[in-house]
Amino acid sequence: GERPVVLELSDLRVGYGAIEALHGIDVTVRQGEVVALLGANGAGKTTTLRTISGLLRPHSGSVVLEGRRIDGMKAHQVVGLGVGHVPEGRRVFPAMSVLENLQMGAYRFRRVPTEDLDRVFTLFPRLAERRAQQAGTLSGGEQQMLAIGRALMGRPRVLLLDEPSMGLAPLIVAQIFDIVAEINRQGTTVLLVEQNATQALRLADRGYVLETGSVVMSAEAATLLADPRVREAYLGEG
Ligand code: ATP
Repeated sequence: GERPVVLELSDLRVGYGAIEALHGIDVTVRQGEVVALLGANGAGKTTTLRTISGLLRPHSGSVVLEGRRIDGMKAHQVVGLGVGHVPEGRRVFPAMSVLENLQMGAYRFRRVPTEDLDRVFTLFPRLAERRAQQAGTLSGGEQQMLAIGRALMGRPRVLLLDEPSMGLAPLIVAQIFDIVAEINRQGTTVLLVEQNATQALRLADRGYVLETGSVVMSAEAATLLADPRVREAYLGEG
């Protein structure tokens, strides 16, 4: 049968003041999947992730994580339940070392599990080499790796990635996507927000297309990749 649902957004409405940014969206993420959330600038992708993490409170609708409602909870509680959020623009702690950033990611545990650090350093050998370096002096790609590694240290049940490819050179983007694929192979469920629709859909099992706060399409990734409307609007073809 189908894999169990990890994350379920139902009729989610979210706004900023009087402006509604999400007009009642439904998104389902099942265990072990990579689900891509696509759409143009301002479509509501970041708003969706920030609502899941408890940084924004929906006007109505619900966010359910493994059967438990989490909308209305505080962000630290949501982290504690296993939602790992890698925000847009990375946001590492610039004055801390690589190692300290990773240790911060494990703050919900009483002590930092050595095996988790080993796992992150195996996934990202660059971070192992630079463990004592101040995070603010890392390259953009290295900071993205650190932000992902830090989220993994919280042992997420689901990993939310907000435009991991943003502002990075194509070679680095390819590396990041390969590592996300490996993280998923190791068992982590991923909800991936991307402007880079082609690469996101190659990695993803399924995808949702957001337009001005509504889901206008949802399908298997291969179906979306082949869809003429998607190709024209998001894959730079037409
Ligand atoms: P981008 O790729 O540019 O981040 P996005 O799909 O992630 O786009 P959101 O950032 O979620 O889109 O924005 C959705 C809508 O909400 C947009 O119309 C945006 O202007 C609005 N919005 C986002 N953040 C705020 C805010 N802090 N205050 C007011 N409006 C906001």
